[in-house]
Amino acid sequence: MNPLYASEDWRSIDPFLRAELLLVIEDVKPGAFIAGDWGPFQRIIRESDLECTSRSSQYDIHLHACVAAPERLREFFRDKLQPLTNKTVADIHRIDGKFLGYPQCCVKEYSHQSMIRPFGAKKSDTKHPFRRELGAMIAEHGSYPAVFDYRPPAFTPCSAHCDDAIATLNTWKDALERNDPDAARALVEFNWEGEPEREAHKEYWDALTKERELQSTRQWFLGTYNAQFEAQLRKHKKLRAIS
Ligand SMILES: [Zn+2]
Repeated sequence: MNPLYASEDWRSIDPFLRAELLLVIEDVKPGAFIAGDWGPFQRIIRESDLECTSRSSQYDIHLHACVAAPERLREFFRDKLQPLTNKTVADIHRIDGKFLGYPQCCVKEYSHQSMIRPFGAKKSDTKHPFRRELGAMIAEHGSYPAVFDYRPPAFTPCSAHCDDAIATLNTWKDALERNDPDAARALVEFNWEGEPEREAHKEYWDALTKERELQSTRQWFLGTYNAQFEAQLRKHKKLRAIS
């Protein structure tokens, strides 16, 4: 295993953000658009022979970066910038899709004009066949293939039966589970939060809700207890001062 994944720099990055970065480092995904920081994240990029271009100003706390091997990054910007004048939104989707390592069929499906989400519209407003098919699987069997839980946030397969998407996701799943199970778990839990996926993970959501309730009760209890304790302490200090 790459010793990087045991390093302090690596562990200092949020597991969910580590997931996509790991796939690029392992060379199973050409590139990623991810959030990073100005410290450990930059060192990891350098040590992994990758490059990143920032979409943030130097005064932003968070770094929004395009990450890839230098030659891939050059190719991406060359495709994207030339010729800028006659590009449609669908062209941009195709270029992004290639950079992000999505299967051609999936990119094509979402490059149709009818599939492009209008600015400000919610994901659930668009008629993604993938979500509809996943919902039907959950309604019928109560579950769906677990490999779909390894989708990075921006990836929607053309169909829940797409062989290319399943093969790609299996490669990503293997790389994550082998190298950083915490990052894998963070990505999986992120996907469990989606619609319709949450329907298939009711036990997880019930347990999490209960856990959050208990945490807030504990917080309230400790706060109340602490206030009573402080009041007692003040009373005795006062008594001591006047005695
Ligand atoms: Zn596909």
